[in-house]
Amino acid sequence: MRVSIAGAGLGGLALAQGLRGAGIEAAVYERDPAITARFQGYRLVLNPAGLEAVRGCLPSRWHPLLDAIVGDAYGERLILDPRLNTIGELGPGRTGTVVDRHVLRHLLLTGLTVHTGAALTGYGVLGEGKVDARFAQGDPVTSDLLVGADGVNSAVRATLAPRTAPTDTGVRFVIGRTTLTERFSGLSKAFGSKIAGDGVSLLLGAMRFRTPPKEAAERLAPEVTLPDVRDYVRWAMILPPNGSLGASTPQEAALSRMDGWHPELRALVEQSDPDNSTLLSIRVVEPGERWAPGPVTLLGDAIHATSPTGGNGANTALRDADLLRRCLIEAAEGRRDLVGAVGEYERQMFEYGAEAVQHSLDALPAYVPQP
Ligand SMILES: Cc1cc2nc3c(=O)[nH]c(=O)nc-3n(C[C@H](O)[C@H](O)[C@H](O)COP(=O)(O)OP(=O)(O)OC[C@H]3O[C@@H](n4cnc5c(N)ncnc54)[C@H](O)[C@@H]3O)c2cc1C
Repeated sequence: MRVSIAGAGLGGLALAQGLRGAGIEAAVYERDPAITARFQGYRLVLNPAGLEAVRGCLPSRWHPLLDAIVGDAYGERLILDPRLNTIGELGPGRTGTVVDRHVLRHLLLTGLTVHTGAALTGYGVLGEGKVDARFAQGDPVTSDLLVGADGVNSAVRATLAPRTAPTDTGVRFVIGRTTLTERFSGLSKAFGSKIAGDGVSLLLGAMRFRTPPKEAAERLAPEVTLPDVRDYVRWAMILPPNGSLGASTPQEAALSRMDGWHPELRALVEQSDPDNSTLLSIRVVEPGERWAPGPVTLLGDAIHATSPTGGNGANTALRDADLLRRCLIEAAEGRRDLVGAVGEYERQMFEYGAEAVQHSLDALPAYVPQP
């Protein structure tokens, strides 16, 4: 069995690792010219099921490394004013494990065949259950299964489920990260909390690695090369509806809305890494339209993109990868046919994927700024 995967995000890479571990041929095609071509290094909270899914896809010899490069999620879950006075509570929230997306991606990439600069433009279903994936450059690639793990604007989805499209919530946010020094440790009350400003909300989260990733890889799995990343604070400022940066940098845009704020909060934004800050919009994809199972399927944000406020997009993409991996292993071992395996994956994925999107939309109002 040969599987082509469009998209080297967490979902596509986890699936490719899982298939590689089972001896199933899988190649990943990524549109970006390089894995590090754009900002991707934010912190993710993985729930126990998401972490288990990653473990399921990774060779067991790397499990100790995975345990070493994560951190424990914690947060005060308060609502604070810009001077850091407590004015309310966010209520029970997410506990779990924090992981840096950039670091996890590097672990997942190890040993895989990833073709970068390979933007999928479409596909054609051939006879005998095969599929041809087409790219902006280069020859088509024939395989038994094409998996669209190509994110919220999925080119695979555009053909497979053309009536399913992203919805823009209108919510925009600026995200950045700042090295977690002794000084910023003093802001711990604000970690996992919401700072409610004038028309904006600021959210902070700490990424404290149990072991610095590069050192952990050198010690626990020398065949893996991980980036040299130190502890940091991820900050995200949710802007008024449809907010934009204008001519400002992300940092300038955030600081322009922080007059009179606590000096340590301003310093945190001032000292952030300009290469790791950007403006993002919140768009969701609600899975609805079904198709007959065949040699093309979707996973992750390509079919169920959530709002980051739900904290479940990566968890769900990883769950997809692990589930599809298990279904495809059954097909490779002759316990079911390929179409039956893909159909079983889609049956389960559609149900929990729709729930994940709804959950994330329910969580959104607690974080968006009050007018
Ligand atoms: C700031 C922020 C915080 C978040 N926090 C959390 C959290 O705490 N917990 C959580 O569970 N989730 C969180 N999420 C959501 C999570 O990051 C995503 O749901 C998850 O990364 C989706 O993975 P994916 O593999 O489906 O897609 P993506 O990560 O979007 O990967 C898709 C890949 O496909 C590539 N691609 C696109 N088009 C093509 C094409 N035509 N051909 C080839 N390749 C293509 C893209 O370049 C990309 O590499 C957060 C998201 C953001 C933005």
